[in-house]
Amino acid sequence: MAKKQFAVIGLGRFGSSVAKFLAEMGYEVLAIDEDQERVQDVAHIVTHAVSADTTDEEAIRALGIRNFDVVVVAIGQNIQASILTTLILKDLGVPQIIAKAQNELHGKVLSKIGADKVVFPERDMGLRVAHHLISPNILEHIELSSDYSIVEMKVPSSIVGKSLKQLDIRVKYNCNVLAVKRDGEMNITPRPDESLCADDVLVIVGRNEQLTRLEQAYAEA
Ligand code: ATP
Repeated sequence: MAKKQFAVIGLGRFGSSVAKFLAEMGYEVLAIDEDQERVQDVAHIVTHAVSADTTDEEAIRALGIRNFDVVVVAIGQNIQASILTTLILKDLGVPQIIAKAQNELHGKVLSKIGADKVVFPERDMGLRVAHHLISPNILEHIELSSDYSIVEMKVPSSIVGKSLKQLDIRVKYNCNVLAVKRDGEMNITPRPDESLCADDVLVIVGRNEQLTRLEQAYAEA
């Protein structure tokens, strides 16, 4: 199967890091920005880097953008340019459009005009940092839906030495332990009677309120 081809429009901090990472992973990346300097900054890393105003339909069409599998619209502050660009890409029939939103309303508009996925990097990173401040044991939080998440939780001192059977997380919190990470190894079939160690990390799936209840109970115990 041919490797996916990506285009990234808007080479601010977010867009340039998406473009660079994809290129470093060996993918073909077309990077676009109206600012020539920003284009130069990534030109040595990505496959093609061009300067263009993506609110100009003809300019965008001339780049053959409809042949790319995924286009990331990473224009932030200029909301009008972000919306116009997304609309043009949709009209051209780009198969998958990922757009960065500056705020909730901007995100709503992007979804309405056909962005397949809208991301809120500043909001999400802010939530992650805040969450980590409140629950230092939570190393990673992956939102599965608005109600369910997977968390990676460092084993709190209150449960070191206990086994999964003793903790009875499934019954008490209606959550499932998917894996136990120990010394960098992921054990996806943890034994119920094995004692947890201080540096273990539990990977747990559950409803958000149950996960919070579990975190708080173990932190306070
Ligand atoms: P970040 O937070 O990722 O640094 P940002 O949210 O501050 O970015 P901007 O700096 O507003 O976003 O936009 C990102 C890039 O998009 C800029 O480099 C800007 O030149 C580019 N850009 C803005 N409008 C257009 C346009 N119409 N066509 C092409 N590029 C554009």
